[in-house]
Amino acid sequence: MEKEEIEKYVKAGRILWEAQQFARKELQPNCNLFEAVEKIEEFILKKGASCAFPVNLSLNENAAHQTPDWNDSIELNEEDVLKVDIGTHVDGRVADASFTINHSGKWNELIKATELALEKAFDLLDKNPTLGEIGQEIEAVISSKGFKPIQNLTGHGLAPFEQHAPPSIPNIKSQDNRRFENGKAYAIEPFASNGDGFVREALKSGIFQIEEPRPVRNAYARKILEFASENYKTLPFAERWLHRELKMSDFALKIGLKQLLKEKVIKSFPILREKKNAVVAQAENSFIKTENKIIKLVQKG
Ligand code: MN
Ligand code: MN
Repeated sequence: MEKEEIEKYVKAGRILWEAQQFARKELQPNCNLFEAVEKIEEFILKKGASCAFPVNLSLNENAAHQTPDWNDSIELNEEDVLKVDIGTHVDGRVADASFTINHSGKWNELIKATELALEKAFDLLDKNPTLGEIGQEIEAVISSKGFKPIQNLTGHGLAPFEQHAPPSIPNIKSQDNRRFENGKAYAIEPFASNGDGFVREALKSGIFQIEEPRPVRNAYARKILEFASENYKTLPFAERWLHRELKMSDFALKIGLKQLLKEKVIKSFPILREKKNAVVAQAENSFIKTENKIIKLVQKG
């Protein structure tokens, strides 16, 4: 990886760290999640990065892919377990990291289990582990705290303008003997729950991604596609972003998105929910591996 490219990843990571501090201050009990999410995303843009995907604010049994809609009035409750998953990018070089908030303190042990699993997985990186060994470490830490890792959610590679690139990095022990490669970027993201350790696809999330751009006849669909192709490229975007930027009526927006989904030009991300509606926590960080070191992307300083 060229020095210039490394610098882009590092800048994305630094801004993500700042956005996390900002988010922690904003996400107080009784705050409106729609207003908070828009402020966090605005913060990222002002600092000179772009959003690699809509900030995910996934509540309680929702593990991932929940983001407020533009007309949401949901407020954060003290009891809520909120996963704050943020992606930033600089010229397509993506940093991806998350943390979990619970103001009541009831779920501290669950949250700490994911944080410790992430820390231990990062400690292992210096030993050039296999992907399976990373999963084994995560599983061991989370199990030792009395919780279950979510088996069907994984970490992943990061590639230019790709927030999810191969390989999958397991959260449980596996036989995957591949190792992290020099010059590549990755995200590790343990999830833990007090349930059985699986998620299922639930409701639609309001998060979309262009899958196969091709000409569409419907005028609303065309307007959305042109805007999204130019501004978000191959990265996910939110319906509320379109609502804000395109000034289309709700009706036109819904029709346009529906048509793009029908023609498989875009795909939508379902909310990923714990199978038995058990509470989920998550911790995530990204790194790049160079020939002689591991550079953690999101950290203080
Ligand atoms: Mn993430
Ligand atoms: Mn990720």
